[in-house]
Amino acid sequence: MKYLLFLFFPFLAYSQQTQVVDIIRISAEVRPSLSEKQIHGRVTVTFLILKDTQEVYLDAVAMEPEAASKSANTAIMVRFTKDKVWLEGAFKKGTTYSVNFEYAATPNKALYFVGEQIWTQGQGKNTSHWLPSLDDMNDKIEFDLTILAPKGKTVVSNGSLIKKIDSQGLTSWFFDMKQPMSSYLVAFTIGNYSSTKMFSKSGISLEHYIDVQDTLHLESTYRYSKKLFDFLEAEIGVAYPWQNYKQVPVRDFLYAGMENTGCTFFSKAFVVDSIGFKDRNYVKVNAHELAHQWFGNLVTETSGTHHWLHEGFATYYALLAERELFGDDYYYWKLFESANRLMALSEQGKGQSMLDAKASSLTFYEKGAWALHLLREAIGEASFSAAIKSYLNKYQFKNVNTTQFIAEIKAHTSIDVSQWQKDWLQQADFKATQAYRSLVASAFMKSYFEIASLAPEAFIDKKIFLETALTSPNDYIGQEAVYQLSREPFADVLPLYKIAFNSENLFVRQAIALSQEDSIPKAIQLDFEGLLEDPSYVTQETALLKLWRYFPENRARYLDLTKTSIGFQDRNLRQLWLVLAINTKGYEQDSHASFVKELKGYASATYSFELREIAFDYIDTLSLWDLETIESLLQATTHHYWRFRDAARKHLDTILKQESLKRVVVEAANNATPAEISYLERIGFVIKH
Ligand SMILES: [Zn+2]
Repeated sequence: MKYLLFLFFPFLAYSQQTQVVDIIRISAEVRPSLSEKQIHGRVTVTFLILKDTQEVYLDAVAMEPEAASKSANTAIMVRFTKDKVWLEGAFKKGTTYSVNFEYAATPNKALYFVGEQIWTQGQGKNTSHWLPSLDDMNDKIEFDLTILAPKGKTVVSNGSLIKKIDSQGLTSWFFDMKQPMSSYLVAFTIGNYSSTKMFSKSGISLEHYIDVQDTLHLESTYRYSKKLFDFLEAEIGVAYPWQNYKQVPVRDFLYAGMENTGCTFFSKAFVVDSIGFKDRNYVKVNAHELAHQWFGNLVTETSGTHHWLHEGFATYYALLAERELFGDDYYYWKLFESANRLMALSEQGKGQSMLDAKASSLTFYEKGAWALHLLREAIGEASFSAAIKSYLNKYQFKNVNTTQFIAEIKAHTSIDVSQWQKDWLQQADFKATQAYRSLVASAFMKSYFEIASLAPEAFIDKKIFLETALTSPNDYIGQEAVYQLSREPFADVLPLYKIAFNSENLFVRQAIALSQEDSIPKAIQLDFEGLLEDPSYVTQETALLKLWRYFPENRARYLDLTKTSIGFQDRNLRQLWLVLAINTKGYEQDSHASFVKELKGYASATYSFELREIAFDYIDTLSLWDLETIESLLQATTHHYWRFRDAARKHLDTILKQESLKRVVVEAANNATPAEISYLERIGFVIKH
């Protein structure tokens, strides 16, 4: 009988473990080795038996035992299999046991060695690739890590740093956690970091780390951090649950940010100076990961079906925090943008129920935020906030599902939420009418919709409205007016362009730079040149490219003006400048070779993938592929970040279509790593000998 066989499938037995044992503590000393890209560890696991059993496991992917492992109090066998460590003995209900063992692993995910940095990424269920732990989120464990790193490096991990001990060129960093958490939230990073420390209103230590070479950008990168913390702690109404809060930007990160408990990691692309802050700052991600410290880390979903309890809440509370900093208009604009994305999905028939474990991020994050926004509108701030407080207190350090959340809402309001549940949690479509009704409650959104509705009208009929819109103190209304101007014959709209340039609104001026497509009329050349000095790297990059293209006689002057500009972490301005300089005949002709060399250098693994991706695109456009850049490209085809890896693979496909370059690939393959060779084999390029 088929179903009987099914019962013996091992994963069914595994999933029961939380009823048999409670893993209480994992203390581990780990030593990552940069040169071998390996990790060695010594673990003490303490567990309480809930039902008599012969065996208990930890998830441990591709780990090898390192030394004879002995238990502290009874004869317990330790056995390694391909994805688990089994602890075997006659375990009695109600008894607590402790076991030690040592292991080594060479993880192909979850632990990343990037340049001078090492960092971990536990979510999905990946911590078990470098630390024996539990993939199941439903058993929360107190983790106490000791991390061995070369002397002089800085280590950041969950919990409080209680001491550091130097020995034989290594420093042991001892961290202590007081509360349990799911294993995917364990993390550490090693790097050359400097840091500052401040305290929240409630006295929590807030530590901001940064690569030593980026120390000058510390303030702009972390701007508003303390404000966000104080706001969210007050807004959520439950004290921040962990001992401290640290944040670290790491290179080549897989996501925008990751909410490791008390220890958020985020992408180094958010390390910005004061100009970059205006274009691309960390505020939203900062608030989002911080909100997860309650929603996700303190109360954790029982399974992926309830993922919105993490992402919807983090997105919503981040929006509330941004509203506190940037005002109501900003808040409604962000909701409007997200409504547009959700509506587009829904109109294609691809709307998703919030309780679909396989739903997209758009659903979990943005539909989730919309659901909470409307729920709070429906039941009122007081009830909403009381329900949230009660929900967090009741389930703290435990796991939750959507039914339990709804029960807390129902306990705090007499308003019927069953229709809301149907509309926002269960069915798949995005309820656009409800969303629109909520948006027009904002006077700003109302004026925006009025201006946007003028788009099809004749210019003469809307001139006066656009003119007012351009000087609106609100960024979004002015931008919409500029986009409408760009579709009209230039001679008619020139006076309005002058108003837009004079608005001194950075984003209205940026809209001019971005919307001028096929030419720049002579009448606004001077104004357009002024954009090169706007404090926005997006504006500067766009303006430089367009001025260079449409006023060839002034190329040298534009290049002189922007010679020392770098731009974001990805050096967007510097790389564009090099490309333009190389293509400007007679401009510093003697230096062209060194410009080419610099641009090609940016393709190398010394740099972040964001920077390299731009370099590869330019190298391709300028046909600069050679042995050096193709070697860098081969390296990128096996990079851990899939988007970058895919972009590199596309370039390689194009290169392999050209006979002359094919020969260079053969030459580059001589120095390729086994992983690169295996990719070349997979696409049928290299034949195995
Ligand atoms: Zn999140």
